[in-house]
Amino acid sequence: MSDWSWLKATLPSSRGGFNLRCASLHAPAAFLASCSQAGPLVEQILGHSPSPGILLESVVPALASAAARCDWRVPCDIDVPLHQRTLSHAIDEATLQQLLVSAPTTRSRALARSSSLPHAGDWLNVIPSASLGLHMHDRELRCCISYWLGVPLHSIPYSCPECQCSADIFGDHHVGCGGSGDSITRHNSVRDVIFTAAQSATLGPTKEVLGLVASSQTRPADVYLPHWTSGRPAALDIHVISPLQEQLVAEAAFTPSHALQVGVQRKLASNLPSCRSAGIECIPVVAETLGGLAHDTITIVNDICSAISDRGYGIDLHSTTRHLFHNLAISLWPGTLRYGSTGSPPSLLPVSDFLSDVHILDLGFVVKVQGQSTLGKTEAY
Ligand SMILES: [Zn+2]
Repeated sequence: MSDWSWLKATLPSSRGGFNLRCASLHAPAAFLASCSQAGPLVEQILGHSPSPGILLESVVPALASAAARCDWRVPCDIDVPLHQRTLSHAIDEATLQQLLVSAPTTRSRALARSSSLPHAGDWLNVIPSASLGLHMHDRELRCCISYWLGVPLHSIPYSCPECQCSADIFGDHHVGCGGSGDSITRHNSVRDVIFTAAQSATLGPTKEVLGLVASSQTRPADVYLPHWTSGRPAALDIHVISPLQEQLVAEAAFTPSHALQVGVQRKLASNLPSCRSAGIECIPVVAETLGGLAHDTITIVNDICSAISDRGYGIDLHSTTRHLFHNLAISLWPGTLRYGSTGSPPSLLPVSDFLSDVHILDLGFVVKVQGQSTLGKTEAY
């Protein structure tokens, strides 16, 4: 595994990493925060207030160590008390910038940017449950992790067995291949998650309704809600788009949410005029294959969760919302998951190579220690 992929793994999942924060990088921040927090107790014991200058003087060398490693500039006017979460967040942001700057390829940079979008890392925080569909097999999980971290799945490019086109070593072709049917599976999985949630909210949803627009055979609604905001009907059109596809990757490497914006514009261009003429609200529900969600998609998911919570099932809004976002996150991975489960393309790198590099046994342990019930299959390790 390359140094770049390792650096990516040290980020929290919310910033595109694997929750394996580097202890040597974050320890000084923890030390500084601890000294700061202990200030009042020290004052109580000593009977006088410790000078902030003395306090900072004793810990700044440690903080400077973290700053030097991540190119984080220490602010001159440090407010006390400090919190480790604040300091570690700053270190994580600096690490992400370092990851972007040091990306070896345009694809790597686009991967780092897209995997750090809001909700992209949700799949790593899912509590595994086969009965709820929140489950991955070991091999699937390992392939997904490889894809997430930019680790090659193949030693050389190969001819795709589904469409006979040239396929890359990272799996991008497979994720977007039209011959395998995975893109349809992924689309339908997301649609079904939204549909089921709308049912739970008693919004009376229907799927793939024909005839919504007069004299047209188009289906602007993957999920149709007859009574949405202000009682108006709404057409939810699902679209999953890969930021790493050839047409988008160059721009996605430098423009945050570029693929999401393209997806939203595509859907509005094809559906907005007809929906407007029929008095239907047109709502693109757009997600990236790496899990990032468009702003309006996040909004409608939150709105549906509020509607579910209002039904009084006894589950708080926070839990309902988290569960729905986790369901969406897992539903976006079936293409890559199947990639791992079939393992049929030639020259698939042996999983053991990956394991020997990332010490997956230790990963499972570390994640458990950090209290992050992640990895989806930690119990298998
Ligand atoms: Zn193909």
